[in-house]
Amino acid sequence: MLNKILSKKACSNCRLCCIFDLYDLWETPVFSADMCRKITAARPGTAFISCEGGFVFKPDKLSDEQTFTCPALSENGCILGDEKPFVCRIFPYRIMSLGNRQVIALASDCKELFERPLSQLTGLLKEGLADEIFTYADSHPEIIKPYYEGYPVLLLR
Ligand code: SF4
Repeated sequence: MLNKILSKKACSNCRLCCIFDLYDLWETPVFSADMCRKITAARPGTAFISCEGGFVFKPDKLSDEQTFTCPALSENGCILGDEKPFVCRIFPYRIMSLGNRQVIALASDCKELFERPLSQLTGLLKEGLADEIFTYADSHPEIIKPYYEGYPVLLLR
């Protein structure tokens, strides 16, 4: 989805968006039952918690210092491939609610895109990505998170 501006090589060298800490657990992807089956086949013993009509992975133990790697992340990248959750396919773009508006904002964790010119980031949205995100969010409102302080807003709806 983002391959016009983000290369697979840049993603495979980073993978930060697949690692979480206590403060960004809210950003962990929600998996379908089918995705959970694929993950469990590759990583037996992975535990999931029911959440927002799907499932999120259950970290072993929660402590301030700890980070949690998504169980779908392998040495070769995400084992779900093109079937990965929508929020992962559009990362670092995020759809959030701000007052009575929906906004598309940018997560700073993606150093590769965070330093790009604003025109490039908004350009991709105008070329169709924003429509895709809003259309998907209309049928999957659970991906719309409350606005999180510090996320630059790129587009308002
Ligand atoms: S589902 Fe795949 S892309 Fe999404 S956080 Fe997990 S490993 Fe990363």
